[in-house]
Amino acid sequence: MTHVAVIGAGITGVTTAYSLVQAGFEVSVLDRHRYPAMETSFANGGQLSASHTEVWNSMETLKKAFSWMRTKEAPLLFNPRFSWHKYSWLAEFMYQIRHHRVNSVACTRLAIEARRHLFAMATAEGIDFDLEQRGILHLYHDRVSFEQASHATQLLKEGGLERSPVTNEEIHQLEPSLRGRYFGGFYTPSDSTGDIHKFTRGLARACARKGVAFIQDAVVQYIKTHSSGVEVQWKNGCGKDGLQPIASLHCDAVVVCAGVGSRHLANMLGDRINVYPVKGYSVTVDLSDADSVANAPWVSLLDEQAKIVTSRLGENRLRVAGTAEFSGENWDIRADRIRPLVQWVRDNLQVETEKVTPWAGLRPMTPSMLPVVARGKRPRVYYNTGHGHLGWTLSGATAAMVTSLVHNDLPS
Ligand SMILES: Cc1cc2nc3c(=O)[nH]c(=O)nc-3n(C[C@H](O)[C@H](O)[C@H](O)COP(=O)(O)OP(=O)(O)OC[C@H]3O[C@@H](n4cnc5c(N)ncnc54)[C@H](O)[C@@H]3O)c2cc1C
Repeated sequence: MTHVAVIGAGITGVTTAYSLVQAGFEVSVLDRHRYPAMETSFANGGQLSASHTEVWNSMETLKKAFSWMRTKEAPLLFNPRFSWHKYSWLAEFMYQIRHHRVNSVACTRLAIEARRHLFAMATAEGIDFDLEQRGILHLYHDRVSFEQASHATQLLKEGGLERSPVTNEEIHQLEPSLRGRYFGGFYTPSDSTGDIHKFTRGLARACARKGVAFIQDAVVQYIKTHSSGVEVQWKNGCGKDGLQPIASLHCDAVVVCAGVGSRHLANMLGDRINVYPVKGYSVTVDLSDADSVANAPWVSLLDEQAKIVTSRLGENRLRVAGTAEFSGENWDIRADRIRPLVQWVRDNLQVETEKVTPWAGLRPMTPSMLPVVARGKRPRVYYNTGHGHLGWTLSGATAAMVTSLVHNDLPS
């Protein structure tokens, strides 16, 4: 049987492992954490959002970004300190502005396709992940941003997604818990939400039942390719003295699904995978009293001005996420970035914020904002990575795509 190693046990690695084992491959997943889904797939915004697939590469985004640089609690934080990776990534991001339409449409198609795969996995394996299929409501505070969003609606339509404009009154009918007044909104009933961590862990258990080997606490150090296979070497990261001696695995192929770690692994393999870590934050609000349970929204929201999203995760949790921070591979949870998320809840909802759990994660972002599903330069090397702000939304489809690449090259 052909043996494939998957590096990374986040949402992209675990969906890839599932898709490969279903296709008849022997699969081993390696991850530097003790459990699956401990990095960016831990506490994200929760949205399965085909309606959020317009890529950010546009002059409007750049103009907003410059104005936000002067505002302390703005949704974007850019650390201007020079780093070659950051500035060259930004140059490529700007170059991609010319592909804005094509990339947005492609991303929408991918997101729609991904729903089918993700829901099929959840149904087949009986995974409870607090799925809510009540749609996503985008909120606009002024005419200009609402009209710009009408242009995005056309792109989404080209990609096959329908969404409807809604008035302030209709917004409040759709989601009575909202307290604000809005210029208007767009509602996408086919979008949904769920807990990425619960899903990934549930799918990882299903993979294990099907024979996938999970090698955790394994910090991958080298990947060597040769004519008859691939050797993956790792150090065990769980020892009290730091990294323990090297162990290795011989297999027939490798798929890199390592989130923000993918760039380093790709360099080692002679490939260039340009993912930049774009930090984001979330708070999970504990809805512990009856009024908060009753007053928290069930329809998922995206406040376009604050760039904040919300997802109801079952009866007792509300996830609120946002912000984009360009400051390299840095996992620190900054109080001044968490504060606007909590304040947004206080300003917009009648929900207690006595108990909130803060979190930060690094979006593995490519300059085009599209994931990389590709063969490497060397035989037997594949990538499924760079899902940026949409890994939860897109991973079902990209797992199937990378599996068919492997299948085309190697027998299962
Ligand atoms: C605040 C925030 C909100 C978000 N909201 C949404 C949303 O609402 N909807 C949506 O679709 N997406 C959202 N995203 C994006 C989504 O969470 C990510 O795209 C997705 O989780 C990335 O998954 P991944 O598997 O690529 O990376 P990860 O989940 O980070 O997994 C990569 C794994 O690779 C492992 N790894 C890396 N290097 C090595 C190595 N050398 N050796 C061993 N293991 C290694 C890591 O330990 C990690 O477990 C959000 C992201 C953030 C930060």
